[in-house]
Amino acid sequence: MADRIFLSSPHMSDEGYEMEYVQQAFDTNWIAPLGENVNEFEKELAAKVGSQSAAALTSGTAAIHLALKAAGVGEGDLVFCSTLTFSATANPIIYQHAIPVFIDSDDKTWNMCPKALEEAFQQYPNVKAVLVVHLYGLSADMDKIVALCKKHNVALIEDAAESLGTYYKGQHTGTFGDYGIFSFNGNKIITTSGGGMLVSDNEEKIAKARFWATQSRDQARHYQHSELGFNYRMSNVVAGIGRGQLKVLNQRVEKKRYIYEFYKRKLQHLEGIAFMPNNEWDEPNYWLSSIILNGNIRPIHVMEALEAENIESRPVWKPMHMQPFFEKYDFVGTDVSEKLFENGICLPSDTKMTDGDLARVVEIMKELWK
Ligand SMILES: *Cc1c(COP(=O)(O)O)cnc(C)c1O
Repeated sequence: MADRIFLSSPHMSDEGYEMEYVQQAFDTNWIAPLGENVNEFEKELAAKVGSQSAAALTSGTAAIHLALKAAGVGEGDLVFCSTLTFSATANPIIYQHAIPVFIDSDDKTWNMCPKALEEAFQQYPNVKAVLVVHLYGLSADMDKIVALCKKHNVALIEDAAESLGTYYKGQHTGTFGDYGIFSFNGNKIITTSGGGMLVSDNEEKIAKARFWATQSRDQARHYQHSELGFNYRMSNVVAGIGRGQLKVLNQRVEKKRYIYEFYKRKLQHLEGIAFMPNNEWDEPNYWLSSIILNGNIRPIHVMEALEAENIESRPVWKPMHMQPFFEKYDFVGTDVSEKLFENGICLPSDTKMTDGDLARVVEIMKELWK
């Protein structure tokens, strides 16, 4: 059996940048707590995306949790949340004892539908925050979403876990709202093995997030706590991997784009196939090349044919309002996200794939259409 082709797996730099920074942490014994790699990784990531400040955390999920807390979301508050996403977007709303209202997708972006969002504002005028996702590295329709949040004076949080390296009208995703979050989980475009980042132009709030993330220790000689704390801070070893990975982010985006264009060139003429949207204002990172199948060949046929050849693929996210855990919460929209889930599939988009690997995927798919 040929070597496994992954959907998206960790890809360390050829230059060994990550090990250099990790070695520095060892050499200086700054394994923990914190240290230079953490401070520098925060600065470097903030500079990369064009944000004033950043807090390095243990995960993207932790970053969403602290973003909600910083935005003042607490018990009983309503949060409008993209329904088509990974559960990690929505779970922290529940950690805060708040109440999600799920918002449908838009065919044009696959992300939060501005029309559905507007409708939601009519239905729930006392909402506390909007949590918008940039799925698969595609940006949401930010002009409209930002305008709606401003009009209603509601905090905007961007889950940019999948969109590091994605620009909307030349501005980096994650920097339009009050808070943005990134993830360095193992399958993301760059990884630290696990980790996340909270970014904001509000430096005071970022300082507060760092405080919460280190058990909310008050300034005192003894251990004193006036607030609930969390153990959410990134380690200095992990941050070293992040600094090295950040250096190859542009290369990774280039390769992801190449993969997407390869599939598009070879597969777009197949009956009933449509590629993920490519809007004029969007400069995606192409994290996962995703397609929609509207003909007789169903996603399950493609996934099974690929799996038989030891190639990983997966369905588009199952919307949160269809999840057993979340289905009791309200949903605003129609059937757009449901259709994307039914018909969508993410093709292997691993940056280590060779042209030969890509050709294998294409050949297996063409065979199905014969
Ligand atoms: C990966 C991911 C997260 C969570 O990030 P972790 O670092 O794994 O906690 C959140 N939202 C989306 C959309 C993701 O893809």
